[in-house]
Amino acid sequence: MRLAFSLVSVLLAGAAHAAPLTVATDLPPVQSLVSMVMGDRGEAVLLMDQGADPHHFQLRPSQARNLANADTVIWMGPEMTVWLDQARQSMRADANDLALLEVADTIHRPYVDHAGGMEHDDHDHQEHIHEDHDDHVHSGDDPHAWLDPSNARIWVDAIEHHLTELDPEGAAIYAANAKLASETLTALSDQVVATLAPYHEQPIVVFHDAYGHFAARFDVNVAGAIALGDAAAPSAAHLSQLRDVISERGAACIFAEPQHNPAMVQQIASDLGLRTGVLDPMGSSLELGPDLYPALIRGMADSIATCQKG
Ligand SMILES: [Zn+2]
Repeated sequence: MRLAFSLVSVLLAGAAHAAPLTVATDLPPVQSLVSMVMGDRGEAVLLMDQGADPHHFQLRPSQARNLANADTVIWMGPEMTVWLDQARQSMRADANDLALLEVADTIHRPYVDHAGGMEHDDHDHQEHIHEDHDDHVHSGDDPHAWLDPSNARIWVDAIEHHLTELDPEGAAIYAANAKLASETLTALSDQVVATLAPYHEQPIVVFHDAYGHFAARFDVNVAGAIALGDAAAPSAAHLSQLRDVISERGAACIFAEPQHNPAMVQQIASDLGLRTGVLDPMGSSLELGPDLYPALIRGMADSIATCQKG
């Protein structure tokens, strides 16, 4: 795919010679989607440390300078990366941002393991993992919206329009790259549907409540999460209720995440006899750039399929 993106850039490079844009981004998958549309014409900078917990991050001075020097910032939005909401105030007044969660037609979904209950009404065991979430500072809207490639496809168009506004001479490059990205994302979705088709009925347990978008798009049965949507440490009551749900629903697989200590996952797995896998919703172990996003989504599907096969 990288070859294809470079090819478009080479073919159209003669068309324009503006100063390259520098785009600051908050998350590896956002950096990847921006890279898909920019090609070689500009630079998409990741502000946070790849592999850090994006819910609880603080910019170092050098990273804050990257933000201050950027022509624009493309990010999920304050629901996901509140640290960037605060830091954004340091940007030049003329540096407009694009918050992807605010793009028209973006699909919004509630958290799966939230006090409001499961999104799928056929999963009627959710009441067992209710607890008092009222003291937590997250709304019912799950901001991990990049895990649905349909959103990524909507955003690729929004990124194209945003970059074209800032760099009109690059319009043809951005349009060609966005079209290619959209095709890549459609093929990716088809591939994941096929990978996960045999496993719709078998529930899984995840580390943090980040998978509602992926689960709804690909019909994955998420029985529960160890940690809430902001990856904060769970209460003892929540863990005990989760164990009940796992036993009742017969989940066979539980998934750790690279950014988080796997101790709790391993403990539950060994107590209840579950198989373990790793899900990397942030692409923290993948190389940054245009190939990261498809590899992230495909990697999650492969990891689920591998564990479910047993
Ligand atoms: Zn998260």
